[in-house]
Amino acid sequence: MNAPNPLLLTQEILRLNTINPPGNEEACARLLGGVLEQAGFRTRYHSFGPGRVNLLAEIGGEDERLPLCFTGHIDVVPLGAAPWKKEPFAGELDNGRVYGRGSSDMKSGVAAFVAAAVRLAPHLARTPGLTLVITAGEETGCEGAFHMHRDGVLGRAGAVVVAEPTSNYPFVGHKGAFWLNAHARGVTAHGSMPEKGDNAVYKAARAVGKLEAFRFGNPPHPLMGQATLNVGTFHGGLNINSVPDRASVGIDIRTVPTVRHSELLALLTQELSPEVELETLMDLEAVYTDPSVPWIQSVFEVMTPILGAAPTPRIASYFTDAAALNQAYRNPPTVILGPGEAQMAHQTDEYCVVDRIGQAVAAYEEIIRRWCLS
Ligand SMILES: [Zn+2]
Repeated sequence: MNAPNPLLLTQEILRLNTINPPGNEEACARLLGGVLEQAGFRTRYHSFGPGRVNLLAEIGGEDERLPLCFTGHIDVVPLGAAPWKKEPFAGELDNGRVYGRGSSDMKSGVAAFVAAAVRLAPHLARTPGLTLVITAGEETGCEGAFHMHRDGVLGRAGAVVVAEPTSNYPFVGHKGAFWLNAHARGVTAHGSMPEKGDNAVYKAARAVGKLEAFRFGNPPHPLMGQATLNVGTFHGGLNINSVPDRASVGIDIRTVPTVRHSELLALLTQELSPEVELETLMDLEAVYTDPSVPWIQSVFEVMTPILGAAPTPRIASYFTDAAALNQAYRNPPTVILGPGEAQMAHQTDEYCVVDRIGQAVAAYEEIIRRWCLS
C-alpha cells in the first residue's frame, strides 16, 4: 500500500476535535488504526471510558531482541480564553506552517511516526519489530497510558521514542511530577469561642511553614539539578465567624532521577503528620537515559545532519507518557524527539513548521532501520 503523506495525515487528525476533557479520542484512534492495519500492523483498541480509546499497533517481532516503541498522545488541551485567528480544527496551511490545536502537541509527531512505520512495514517481518503506543488522556496526567499499564496490554519494548514537540532536538529525559494534597482536619465552633474548636487552618499553616523550609537530601542530578517543591493552593474555612474544621494544601513537587517518590512520601508524611494527611494526586517518576548509552548516541548521530550540529544532552521541560511506559518496559533507553515546537504547545494559534514533519519522518525511518534492519 502507499504510505500516507505525513502532512495530509497530520491535517486529517487535526480535524478531529480531541480536546480533553472530555477527550473523545476514539475516532482519531480508529482512523490511525485503519492506516496501520492496511499496512499489516496488528492493532488493539483499548478503551477506558466512553469515547476514550488508546491504540496499540505491532509489527514484526522475534524472540531474541525487543521491539522499538514509538509513542504519542492524540488528546489535546482546551483552546483557552484568547480568540484564535486560525480555525483550530481545520489543519490550515499558511507560510510553511500547519495550524491547529494539537499541531505541535502532538498530532504531527504521531502522524510522522505512523508514516515512517508504514513506509518500512514491508521490511519488518522477522525483525525485532515495532510497538506503537498511541494514547488518549495524556494531558490530564497520562491517564490512558496508566490504564494500559494497569491492564497489562503494553507489550514489550527495548527502547522508546516519545514524539512530543522538541523541534526535532533529541531530549534524554524530563523531571517527574509528584502532586500531593495535604488535608488538615479540626473541630468547628463559633468564631467567638475558638477555645471550643480545633482550628484546621492553623494546622495547615504549620504544614506550609515546614514545606517552605523543606530541603531535599538527595544528591542533585547532573543534568536536571535538584528537585523543586511549590505550594500551589491553600484552601480553608467557610466563613469568617467559624473555627474551620477543614483545610487543604496543594503541593507540586518536580522530582529528579535521584529522588524515589515512595521514599519522599514517607519522609514528608513523617515531617508533617499528625497535623495533616497526605493524598497523592499524581505520581509520575522522572525519566532519564544516560547520554553515553549506545542507542542514544545512535539517535544523536541520526539527528546530527538534520540539526546541522551534534546534539548535546538536554532535558525537556514537560512530562510525558514515558513516565508510565517506563514502568511497563522497565526503564528502557528513552528519547523525546518530535517535529512540533515545544513553545507552541498549549498556545493560541498553535502551529507546527511543515518542514520539520518531513525531517521527523526521515529521522524515525533511520532510527527504525538501525533498530530492526542492521
Ligand atoms: Zn504533549
